Amino acid sequence: MISVPFLDLHKVNEEIGGEIRKAINEVVDSGWYILGNKVRHFEQVMADDLMGDTKGYVVGCNSGTDAIILSLLAAGVRPGDEVITVSHTAIPTIAAIVTAGATPVFVDIDEKTWVMDTSLIEEKITKKTKAVITVHLYGNMVDVFKVKEVLQAAGRKDIAVIEDVAQAQGAYLNGCQAGTIGDFGAFSFYPSKNIGALGDGGAICCKDEEKRDLLQMLRNYGQRDRYHALVSGGLNSRLDEIQANILTVKMQYLHEWNRRKAIIMDTYRQELRFEKFKFQIVSPNCHPAWHLCVIAFDTESDRERAMSVLSNFGIQTMIHYPIPAHMQIAFSSFSNQKNNLLRTENLVKRILSIPLNIALHNKEQIHVICALKKLNEI
Ligand SMILES: *Cc1c(COP(=O)(O)O)cnc(C)c1O
Repeated sequence: MISVPFLDLHKVNEEIGGEIRKAINEVVDSGWYILGNKVRHFEQVMADDLMGDTKGYVVGCNSGTDAIILSLLAAGVRPGDEVITVSHTAIPTIAAIVTAGATPVFVDIDEKTWVMDTSLIEEKITKKTKAVITVHLYGNMVDVFKVKEVLQAAGRKDIAVIEDVAQAQGAYLNGCQAGTIGDFGAFSFYPSKNIGALGDGGAICCKDEEKRDLLQMLRNYGQRDRYHALVSGGLNSRLDEIQANILTVKMQYLHEWNRRKAIIMDTYRQELRFEKFKFQIVSPNCHPAWHLCVIAFDTESDRERAMSVLSNFGIQTMIHYPIPAHMQIAFSSFSNQKNNLLRTENLVKRILSIPLNIALHNKEQIHVICALKKLNEI
């Protein structure tokens, strides 16, 4: 019987293994390893992909978490400020807010799209609100235009919109790429993401030149030129040349890989449309960039049963994420807002992520589909 791993990163990277090794060797030979030509080139390539001829910038940094922290700092978020976001996200979204000294304020998700319910933002805005982080979960997008409208209607131009694009690089909303609609777009190149480094990496997209300059200082101790510090609160969060050079290679494949995953996703949806679980509904006007294929069962016990059946078929599954942020031990001090997060709490009990990646072979996908179809019979 064949077994299907959730994600085989070696297989993913070996597809362009020659190009990756060449990119690494170029840096080994160059004698320059951090924030050099390769980083600058990658930032330009990514900015061109994101915004084409429209004015905009990309600033590389050490991780997606740092991309969020740096965005918060550049947005002027200070200890005690509040940041509105969802609880149904990866831990780093919330860890970044807390590390910046701010308080996460949670809103619930939409029942169908599983991303932020933008109609719930307004009631959470206070004098202390400094930012909203929209998490484009699994590759689907939050309606960032709607978020901006809500803030505008509330007369709060001072609240920054930060897109967490870690799971949706290459997605579009009304023709605009994810990460270019808010004030900042925070990207992660964690190895499993839509384009992954062979280590850690991240980047921030912004359209304001002054913010770009500020981000460049904040990622590098707060200094503008060597040994001249202009801003306090700087970090060491630089992108290294090896990762940047690998990422430049991978940028060429981003949209092609997203298309391949979209085809796999369409096959799952088509073949499994009569089964007793649901897929994430794509937000209106969104062209998603699938990072994960997540299905939702009716009950927790259906989900547990599916996990064990799939496991018996040699298929590896995961849960993204089993515990929402407001129920994590680390964030328990922020959960006393008596949040009404019932949809979040209900969904996390029922979801299951099944294999979806560019290395997933056709016969592996058929095996997964057959196993899921058997659920009704067993
Ligand atoms: C992966 C991820 C991050 C953090 O990225 P790192 O590069 O691992 O720091 C942030 N937010 C979301 C939604 C993620 O999936």
